[in-house]
Amino acid sequence: MKAIHPSQRMSRIPPYVFAKLGLRIAELRSEGVDVIRVDIGSPDLPPAPPIIQSLIESAKRDDVHGYAPFGGPEAFRKAVAAYYERRFGVQLDPKDQVLGLIGSKEGLFNLTQAMVDPGDVVLVPNPGYPVYTSAAEFAGAEVVLMPLRAENGFLPDLTRIPSETLERVRLMWLNYPNNPTGATADLAFFQDVVDLAAKYGFLVAHDAPYTEVCFDGYVAPSLLQVPDAIQVAVEFNSLSKAYNMAGWRVGMALGNPTAIDALGTLKSQMDTSQFTPIWAAGTAALIGDQSWLEERNAVYEERRDLVLDALATIGMEAPVPKAALYVWAPLPEGEASSAAFCERLLVETGVSVTPGVAFGSEGEGYVRISLGTDTERMAEAMTRLKSWRPA
Ligand code: PMP
Repeated sequence: MKAIHPSQRMSRIPPYVFAKLGLRIAELRSEGVDVIRVDIGSPDLPPAPPIIQSLIESAKRDDVHGYAPFGGPEAFRKAVAAYYERRFGVQLDPKDQVLGLIGSKEGLFNLTQAMVDPGDVVLVPNPGYPVYTSAAEFAGAEVVLMPLRAENGFLPDLTRIPSETLERVRLMWLNYPNNPTGATADLAFFQDVVDLAAKYGFLVAHDAPYTEVCFDGYVAPSLLQVPDAIQVAVEFNSLSKAYNMAGWRVGMALGNPTAIDALGTLKSQMDTSQFTPIWAAGTAALIGDQSWLEERNAVYEERRDLVLDALATIGMEAPVPKAALYVWAPLPEGEASSAAFCERLLVETGVSVTPGVAFGSEGEGYVRISLGTDTERMAEAMTRLKSWRPA
């Protein structure tokens, strides 16, 4: 019998880092280890009650169980546009500048397939969310990594991208507030990016699911606030982190109508929208009372301080993140491998953190700790960490 085999394209796609880690943790748990996961960025807290209520009310109706409109119902796209106007002062046409997504992750992957040809260059931050690279590899594109280093505030140094490379760029990925570093970017940086994209004629995709997770009074901007950014940019946002709805799978792409149209066309062949009650709940989240977000962010801020304090006691002084869901901590002196460090920490204390190298070679030398874990469990994890002596 002739054996079946996956496509050649699949050889460029590794299993997702958290899929592998999940198996390792299940193994340890079956051996009786009390594992505390502070690795994955999945909010532990629920959405506000009116959001859940709107899901329930909508699901009770008879007319919501068929296929929903591609790209989300008009009410959802209008709510997204209203949110961008209210929050960022950015005006968008809900008809052709807003597209609803089944969580933003699929949009990131699919945008690349819709906008990039084999051999094109895709600029990807290193470290960065792994999907930017795997999507580009899948499209047969050439990935050129942009190092994010502490000395440059974890922003890519745009002046170091050679002009021969820039001539071949089709797509540039950015992500602020940043996963995994917790870094933020200001409008002056976004303006430089937009100028560069306009000069060389490439699309900027700004992945911005953490704009509503901010601390110490910081308010994250949108890249679309840059005048005329819409000529060269799309932004992705998501209800996952903003409204504690990661499992609900609802997100959005906004901005450049050519990119939005191509993404929408590709998706019309790939999926058939999301369940209407989820769109309804997403709409309720976007237009409803926003004051609870401040309380939720205060919970993350408390956890962040717990983590920073525990890390300092074991020689891992980390920068204080102003936004996103993560503490990005350098390994203690003398530790060379983030993967080996995390494995030892997991086996010896039951605390699971993410090795920085999972986000790219420039992430080596760091670990990422997520703030999306119940405060008491987080405190317990930090107590274990403080009484642990690495190496
Ligand atoms: N981008 C970044 C930077 C993320 O960290 C995440 C989730 N961890 C996503 C995109 C995907 O979010 P979702 O698909 O839940 O909207």
